[in-house]
Amino acid sequence: MLSTMQDAPLSIAQLLRHGASVHGASEVVTWTESGPRRVSYADVGKRCAQLAHALRGLGVEGDERVATFMWNNSEHLEAYLAIPSMGAVLHTLNIRLFPEQLIHVANHAEDRVIIVDPSLIPLLSPQLPSLTTVKHIIVTGSSTAGLEAPEGVQVHTYEGLIADQPTEFDWPEVDELSAAAMCYTSGTTGDPKGVVYSHRSIYLHSMQVCMSDGPNLAQGDRALAVVPQFHAMSWGLPYAAFMIGASLIMPDRFLQPAPLAAIIASEKPTFAAAVPTIWQGLHLYLEQNPQDISSMREVLIGGSAVPPALMHAFEADHNVSVLHAWGMTETSPLGSVARPPAGVTGDAMWKYRYSQGRFPASVQARLIDDDGKVVAHDGVSVGELEVRGPWITGSYYGVDAEDKFNDGWLKTGDVGSITADGFLSLSDRSKDIIKSGGEWISSVDLENAVMGHPDVTEAAVIGVPDEKWDERPLVAVVLRAGSETTMSELQQYLSDKVAKWQLPENWAVVQEVPKTSVGKFDKKRLRADYHEGGLEVTRL
Ligand code: ADP
Repeated sequence: MLSTMQDAPLSIAQLLRHGASVHGASEVVTWTESGPRRVSYADVGKRCAQLAHALRGLGVEGDERVATFMWNNSEHLEAYLAIPSMGAVLHTLNIRLFPEQLIHVANHAEDRVIIVDPSLIPLLSPQLPSLTTVKHIIVTGSSTAGLEAPEGVQVHTYEGLIADQPTEFDWPEVDELSAAAMCYTSGTTGDPKGVVYSHRSIYLHSMQVCMSDGPNLAQGDRALAVVPQFHAMSWGLPYAAFMIGASLIMPDRFLQPAPLAAIIASEKPTFAAAVPTIWQGLHLYLEQNPQDISSMREVLIGGSAVPPALMHAFEADHNVSVLHAWGMTETSPLGSVARPPAGVTGDAMWKYRYSQGRFPASVQARLIDDDGKVVAHDGVSVGELEVRGPWITGSYYGVDAEDKFNDGWLKTGDVGSITADGFLSLSDRSKDIIKSGGEWISSVDLENAVMGHPDVTEAAVIGVPDEKWDERPLVAVVLRAGSETTMSELQQYLSDKVAKWQLPENWAVVQEVPKTSVGKFDKKRLRADYHEGGLEVTRL
């Protein structure tokens, strides 16, 4: 028997119409050299219509790809909403990809138009002659200075293009399963692969961003989206904000600790999201430049494991609660969120909060051991995490990647355990786990333990070859300026925190841990540095 319910497709246009009318007074704030620039959601709605008309005028039809090469700002929000709403496909290009990766990704997606911020022209320009499908470049603002287009490519200014367009658009009704946006993985452990989100997946994911067992974004929130719009769709914040009427604060290119602190002082966000390295940097900066940041009731941190020391520091020093979450580009990206069960307090509560968290009803999770068997959710048994659900990708765009899927489940490459009440604790990415004499050492556990030392600001652990044990951990540490802590003192510090056989004997002090294009510890590069003799290793 079929239901009697109406078949009303879920769509980005619906989010756009709703946000621009019901929440028309909410605003998107873009940080600039001279402070905040504000646009109301009502005006965003009008500008979206103008952008859609302009893109049609350039010949964008059907599911053609319109790419962005942009910071987080109000024009990028307009692109997020207008492009899928007109039936085209938004492709967020990662501005920090290596040139050859950028060329590969733009050609592979067959981008027809690229919208670029003026400050990013120098990064994009040299690659333009290699982009085979691009016909139009739109530069945000009112000048195209510095952009030299190859033959056959037309250049426009964003403001010039939309200026005289109508402020309403007859948004087409699209199949909710059709493509709305695409994002390539950042390639931390391999080549970038394309994930294509549907109208339906984005809509449902946005609802999860607003759920109380999720990030709990609410009307009245002011969400500081530090996580780039090219990194897994800014973790879904732009769409969710438009759905629920939360205002958005966009830092544009001002991502260093000092301007972030200035943005927080000026705009009083109640919520924020970014990878751990951003918050480590801000916390260090605030030690030297004290400031009240307690307008933020909660900061969402994910992308890599959050060191418990960082959670405690934010809570103790700033009265800001850290919410730990796990996800991937492939999972839209919200997977699990670490909200402890109601009523749990003290150490038990912290244990829940350190974990990667619990999956929502819409996302199923299971762990698979080396023999391909499903392991128990008992908090002890370990396996590779596999997930499935309406906003989890079931394939990659235009490539055969059957090895990434298991009977309809996405293989995440992450290894960990799940408790009976559903909390995931990741020990590592399978590629980063250290195999020492037949036993596994979690690089993440070691990093968290070392980063608990007050003189350590960053620590990344990799496995290095060892004659006797096959592999042993090497810790690359960044020490606080002026610190005289020795490596044997750090090793001693760990002695009551990890098992004796896990104690690392290889240490290297570095100026900075190399970072990936989305700000995570770049262990691939660290390993290469080690093998090329670029690390000065102390062996204890
Ligand atoms: P990339 O795979 O290129 O790094 P993603 O941002 O999609 O780009 O990365 C997803 C991966 O990031 C996950 O598979 C996992 O290894 C890691 N990750 C994300 N969140 C967490 C977390 N809270 N704790 C540990 N690892 C995490």
